[in-house]
Amino acid sequence: MARYEKFEAFKKLGVSQIANKGLGLVALEDIHAGERVLKLGGRLLKRRPARDPRSMRIGEKLYLTSSGFLDDYLNHSCEPNCAIDFSSLTLFAIKHIKKGEEITVNYCTIEYQIAPSYRFRCACGSKSCVGVVSGFKNLPKNKKEELLRFVAPYIKMRVQL
Ligand SMILES: [Zn+2]
Repeated sequence: MARYEKFEAFKKLGVSQIANKGLGLVALEDIHAGERVLKLGGRLLKRRPARDPRSMRIGEKLYLTSSGFLDDYLNHSCEPNCAIDFSSLTLFAIKHIKKGEEITVNYCTIEYQIAPSYRFRCACGSKSCVGVVSGFKNLPKNKKEELLRFVAPYIKMRVQL
């Protein structure tokens, strides 16, 4: 059953050229809010892997390497249409996604603080765009509050301390 679900999810995703961004993930069919979109791949490590800008921080001492698969093309948006369920490392839709739309997640839900060399100017074009993406720590207060329900558990722990 799990394998079938995974296949069903992948069937809805493709990789395509996105304006101003390079390659990105796109929906090949409509995706409903709440729907599981993709199981993240990669290896779990206790340290940030070197030379792997696609790696993700998912715990105080836990990192997920790039996978060489679809999830490596998951781009950031300040108003994303997906979020990560960190307990199952699954990407799910937080709003209805139309066929052809880019699949995005807010990197600030994953990274508390992005190293200076990996910070980047956001090209999401949304009204609430933060400009340079440098991690959850540097977001304005209202944006932090808005994102809190989607952040990695280690970020939630830090905020609540
Ligand atoms: Zn943005």
